[in-house]
Amino acid sequence: MQVTLWGTRGSLATPGPEMARYGGNTSCVSVLGRAGTMLVLDAGTGIRRLGATIPDTVRRIDILLTHLHMDHIQGLGFFAPLYRPGLDVHVWGPGSVTLRLQARLRRYLSPPLFPVNLSELPCKLTFHEVPCAETDIGEFRVCSALVCHPGPTVGYRVTAPEGGVLTYLPDHEPALAVQRFPSLPREWTSGGTLAAGADLLIHDGQYSAAEYPGHCGWGHSSLDQALDFGTLAGVKRLVPFHHDPSHTDTDLDLLLARAIEEARPTYEVTPGCEGTVFEL
Ligand SMILES: [Zn+2]
Ligand SMILES: [Zn+2]
Repeated sequence: MQVTLWGTRGSLATPGPEMARYGGNTSCVSVLGRAGTMLVLDAGTGIRRLGATIPDTVRRIDILLTHLHMDHIQGLGFFAPLYRPGLDVHVWGPGSVTLRLQARLRRYLSPPLFPVNLSELPCKLTFHEVPCAETDIGEFRVCSALVCHPGPTVGYRVTAPEGGVLTYLPDHEPALAVQRFPSLPREWTSGGTLAAGADLLIHDGQYSAAEYPGHCGWGHSSLDQALDFGTLAGVKRLVPFHHDPSHTDTDLDLLLARAIEEARPTYEVTPGCEGTVFEL
C-alpha cells in the first residue's frame, strides 16, 4: 500500500513560512492499495489537496474518520470528489450516545456553518458507524477500536493483502491516569492491540515532555510517550503526527531530536511532514 501524508498538524490549521516543512494542514492521510482501493484517514484541511489529485476513473472512496473534532472534519466540504454525481463515497466514523454519525456530521455540513447541506451532495453517500467488527474495504482488512481521547474516538488498523500493516492513532492519550507510562502490557493499554507489530504507526506526538503536565487530559501525547508507545507496541516505524500549532519547523526539529536521543528507539522514526509518501 502507498500511504501519503496530506495534513500533519493538530488542533488548528497553521499556515506560515515557519511551518512550511512539517506543514500547516490538519489531519489527513491517504492509503492506496495495489488493486486500487482508496482509503482516506480523516478529513482535516489536508483533504482539499488530496481531492484535486483523485482521477475521474476512481469509482469508490472510503473516508475513515477517527472522531468529529473540527480539525478532523473541516476539509470535508472542500473535498472535490463529493461533488461528482454518483461517485460511491462511504464515510466511517463514530456516532455518539444520542446521535448517529450522519446526524453529527450534518451539524457542520449545513448553514450557517457551511453553505451546502450534506443531503444536497450529488455523490452517493453511505454512512457506517464505528467501532464495528473487523471488516473488508476493497482489498484491505480494517479494524477499528475506541481509544483514549475526549468524546467518541477510534483508531484504525489497516492490513493489506500482501501483509503490510498501518495503524493510525492521530489523537491519543494512552498515558492518561497511568502513574508511570508505559506500565501495563500492550493489550491493557489504549490502542495497544491496534498498533501491535505495525509496519507503520502514525501517532499523536503533540507536546514536548515539558508541555505534557500542563495538558494532561486534553487527549494528546508527548513525543516521549509516543516513542514509548511505539516500543510497547513493537512497531517497525513511527511517524510522530498532530504537531502542536505553536511548534515551528525549528522547534519540531529540536524537540524530535531530543526525544529520539533520550528514548533511543530500536525502530525507525520519521517525523510527520506534509507530502511524505511511504510504501508498505
Ligand atoms: Zn485532532
Ligand atoms: Zn481530537
